Amino acid sequence: MILYRLRCRKGHEFDSWFKDSKAYERQEKRSLIGCPSCGDSKIERALMAPRIGKGSKRGAEPPPEAPAAPAPAPQPSPQEQQMAALTREMPKELREALLQVRAEVEKNCEHVGGNFAEEARKIHYGESGKRGIYGETSDEEAEALAEEGIEFGRLPWIPRGN
Ligand SMILES: [Zn+2]
Repeated sequence: MILYRLRCRKGHEFDSWFKDSKAYERQEKRSLIGCPSCGDSKIERALMAPRIGKGSKRGAEPPPEAPAAPAPAPQPSPQEQQMAALTREMPKELREALLQVRAEVEKNCEHVGGNFAEEARKIHYGESGKRGIYGETSDEEAEALAEEGIEFGRLPWIPRGN
């Protein structure tokens, strides 16, 4: 028995066993060999050479699968990315100044986290002791605070050690 790699006119390649080379030639002449992909009976022998490099015609075969990409690492939020980009583009002096402001605020004010708007309102309306606070708030809340005449400042909260 002899194994031939065969190829049809459309470039499909397939392997087929024959008793010997004469058996192959005979079957080929009678169009007894059909391409398993498209049924084409016009078959020729393909080279058994390893199909590496540019010389090999893959015909209509699908391109080899690209290696699976590694699972994407957890992405920082758009805000974090924006701030990181901003920090990178910032002049060193500005970055240091902002870090100093941050340190001052952290030393002298109470961190209220996401409750900033609520807490700022309480202080403004005397429901809470007058003190400096800092925290995070949304654009909408900041606008509302400004409309209510509540004093506050906004500064880019740049990440430390960056
Ligand atoms: Zn074919």
